[in-house]
Amino acid sequence: MALMTKEQYLSSLRGLGHRVFIRGEKVESVPDHPISKPPAMAMAETYQQAEQEDMKALFTAQSHLTDETINRFTHIQHNIEDLVNKILMLREMGRKTACCFQRCAGLDCMNSVYAITYDLDQEFGTRYHGRFADFMKYIQSNDLLPAACMTDSKGDRSLSPSKQEDTDQYLHIVEEKKGGIVVRGAKMHITGGVNSHEVIVMPTRALKEEDKDYAVAFAVPANTEGITFIYGRQPSDMRRLEENRSDTGNLYYGGCESMVVFDDVFVPEERIFMKGEYPFAGRLVELFAVHHRASYGGCKVGVGDVLIGATAAIAEAHGTEKTSHIKDKIAEMIHLNETLHAGALASTGKGYCTPSGAYAVDPLLANVCKLNITRFPFDISRLAQDIAGGLLVTMPSLDDQDNPVIGPYVKKYLVGKSGVDSEKRVRILRLIENITLGTGAVSYLTESIHGAGSPQAQKIMITRLADIESAKSCAYKLCGL
Ligand code: SF4
Ligand code: FE
Repeated sequence: MALMTKEQYLSSLRGLGHRVFIRGEKVESVPDHPISKPPAMAMAETYQQAEQEDMKALFTAQSHLTDETINRFTHIQHNIEDLVNKILMLREMGRKTACCFQRCAGLDCMNSVYAITYDLDQEFGTRYHGRFADFMKYIQSNDLLPAACMTDSKGDRSLSPSKQEDTDQYLHIVEEKKGGIVVRGAKMHITGGVNSHEVIVMPTRALKEEDKDYAVAFAVPANTEGITFIYGRQPSDMRRLEENRSDTGNLYYGGCESMVVFDDVFVPEERIFMKGEYPFAGRLVELFAVHHRASYGGCKVGVGDVLIGATAAIAEAHGTEKTSHIKDKIAEMIHLNETLHAGALASTGKGYCTPSGAYAVDPLLANVCKLNITRFPFDISRLAQDIAGGLLVTMPSLDDQDNPVIGPYVKKYLVGKSGVDSEKRVRILRLIENITLGTGAVSYLTESIHGAGSPQAQKIMITRLADIESAKSCAYKLCGL
């Protein structure tokens, strides 16, 4: 079975038996809990799309490891076209779900670990790459999804991992045993963690020799003893508990992050992909960051499409769509959104082949793309809110429209132009509210700042990667120096 159906995925999640807590309570079935269901459905959509005739070309690929047709979310990219198709696929997913659909963090992680384990073996004579290739075959053949676990809890940010008062603030090896290692620590903001079959752990930063116990990469099943997922709250998440889910804005999907605790987890030898090779910790972090920074120029652009569509729809509902400043603002939103996409596509166009044979995007352009992502979705959201008007945050709930006493008032005074009833207007506004202020804003806004590294991390990389010396020499030549 190289491709799972959406239903097979959902039942695999139900039967996984991993330890998940939401608001202090253990969750029996992640896709059936009202809070975690929309994120599970967003993840499930990555399976659904691969089943659809019109989407197959984009959502499937040929594995270079198994030769089978696999879901593109498990594919090791082997040429520029693969890099481009990933970005296009993520935009399509953003358009379908208007949230973080989570599966690409694992995809970018797999592509990074695949390339770096090859380099590690060349340098140290280790055998990580073959192990990782075996792991990839297992993932691809069973259409599984692993969550990427990178960010540590970090404690005192001014201290290195081994200098922390509590040395578990960074995940590390606490014991070497026959046949494997034992690790302890916690990984934060783990996208789609609760919806994943496996977890892949990577270091979170460049490390020195004194921190070599922290230079560890591995994969284990999500239901491994000692692993606990603690679900992250989001603004307006409790609306999912309401009977009338129309007030959630996005009725079907959502993103999710969780904190993942590793309490003395045993990792068998064959699942270890880095153990103590500290000079490569930073390289792995950077390669993952670069892949994921370009990915944002796919997924966030797709969400941007939905927001632009909802904004154009509300302008129409208000009868303002032909007003010149509204047209100008929508043009501005499109310009910003397509600029984000252009950055991601440019980074694929200048992609390169790593020694492993896997392709990676151009690091400078991927960082430029992500730095724009930390800004433009906020501008696009500001313009959407401007056009939507203040009702966005003052409108009564859809439940009020059903009340026999106040319903007639709400229905009478919330209409738009002729033919636009109050329900239509409120539903569009709720979607804009969701993406710019509610659960969707976690994916579209805050994650755009911090996901795949905060803005300063991109500025550091941009400064390092840009060839300022050659630019200076161009300037010197032209002014006669
Ligand atoms: Fe995928 Fe975007 Fe979510 Fe990252 S932020 S996991 S690229 S949808
Ligand atoms: Fe993300």
